[in-house]
Formats: sequence, C-alpha cells, structure tokens
Amino acid sequence: MENSNKEEYQLNESDENSEPVSDEEQGGTRILDYTDSEEEKNKKIYNSELLQLFQVSKIDKELLEIEEERGDLPAKIELLQEEIKNFEQIIVKNKQEILKLDSEKENLSKENKNAAKKIDRYDEEKFKVRSNKEYDEITRAIDHLYDQIDRNDTRNNEIEILKSNLTKEIEDTERNKAEIQEDLKEKKQLLDELNKETEMRELELKNKRVNIMARLDAGIVNLYERINKTYTGEAIAILRNENCSGCFNSIPPQKAIEIKMANQIFVCQTCGRILIDESIVPENHKV
Ligand SMILES: [Zn+2]
Repeated sequence: MENSNKEEYQLNESDENSEPVSDEEQGGTRILDYTDSEEEKNKKIYNSELLQLFQVSKIDKELLEIEEERGDLPAKIELLQEEIKNFEQIIVKNKQEILKLDSEKENLSKENKNAAKKIDRYDEEKFKVRSNKEYDEITRAIDHLYDQIDRNDTRNNEIEILKSNLTKEIEDTERNKAEIQEDLKEKKQLLDELNKETEMRELELKNKRVNIMARLDAGIVNLYERINKTYTGEAIAILRNENCSGCFNSIPPQKAIEIKMANQIFVCQTCGRILIDESIVPENHKV
C-alpha cells in the first residue's frame, strides 16, 4: 500500500485541476493494478526478447554452418586445381625429357654408324700398312672406335630404361590427374548446388534475422551483436542447474533466481554470454 500511496500522490500532484480521486473509488487499486500489470509486462517483455535473441542465435549458428560448409569447398577446389597443375607440369617435363633422350639416341646412332664406317676403312687400311707401328696405330684406333660403340650401346640401353620409366610416370600421372579431375568436377558441382541451395536458405535466415532484430531495442541488439562477434552463433547461453551452458561455470543462486525472473538481461560474469533460463528455452532446443 505504501507504493500505491506514493503513486496516488504523484498522480494528484501532476493533475492539480482534476477532481480529487478517492482511495476507495479507484485510485489505489487502479494504480496498483497498473503497477502490477506493468511489472508483469516487463517480465514478459524480457522473456520474449530473450527468446527472440535465442532464435537469432540459432539463425546465426545455421548461417555460420552454411558458411563453414561452403567455406571449405573453395579451398579444397583450389587445392585440387593446384594438384592438377603439378601433374600437368610433371607430364610436360617428362615429355620434354623423352624428346631430349630421343635426340641423344639419334646422335648416338649417328656416331655408331660413323664409327662403323671408320672401322671398315681402318680394316682396309690395315692391309696396306708399311710398318708394325702403323699397324698398331690403326689397331688402337679401331679398338678405340669399338670402345666408343660399346659406350654408346650402354648409354642407349640406359636411355631405353629412362624412357620407359618416364613413360610409365606419365601414364601414372595421367591416371592420377584423371582421378583428381573427377574429384574436382564433383566438388565444383557440389559447390554450385550448395550455392543454389543455400542462397535461398541464407536469404530466408537473413530476412528472419532482420525482422526479429527490428522488433528489439537497439541496446539489446547492440549487446547481442557485440557478444556474437566473439561467440558467433553462441551468444546465448542457457542457465541450467545454476550453470552457464556456454562456459560451464556456476552462477550464484541469487543471480540464478534473478535470471529466471528475467526482469532484465544478464550476461555470464565469466564468459560474457547472454544468459537465458532453461524454462524459457523452447522444448526442441533444450538438449
Ligand atoms: Zn558463461
């Protein structure tokens, strides 16, 4: 009644010219009713605002998930494209290497043909020599040419092995490249589909978010946005068994009661998330 008297006094003072309102008539009770309903309204407003913020946090969580899902794909696609480029470089390098080896082979073959011709010539000259010394010189020259042919043949065999290895590497690389290309194609398709799919959902979520936020006070919106910058999609924590669901720290019992009453918006003293009592949280979000 103390409160009602005060209210009545203020009412009478601010409305000097009006007829004095008797206590019995309505004054006290009317004002009391008004005060009661105002308190009740306050409580309801914060419950509903907390609930709306909770819904915004769910929207933000989904938006983050969409972003994360898609955010991963472009990086993967880039990586695959990089791999394909590496494979292509290996293939080009090997092909160039094979061309070089072919040209070396051709030179060796020319060299051997020339050496064989020279040997033939020396063989003929061998019978025309006039001294042992000359004969020995020709024999040495022939031996030297045979050595060269042997060396060239050995190198030729090496080249064949090298070429075969390079060709095999090209084949393997082509196969790997084809696999990666297939993977790349799938991922690109997935990203396209995801973009198409999420475009609508994202728009829907963003519109919903704007609509909810438009109904809330700027102060509350700012508070939420500030916390959401740190804990994207998790700016709201649930008060459950006197614990903050965000950081799992305990909330003092008296504070817990105040949070439950929701006469104002509270943030967790430890993590800074907005706290909402479990009883306000919709059933399907309680887990
Ligand atoms: Zn916390």
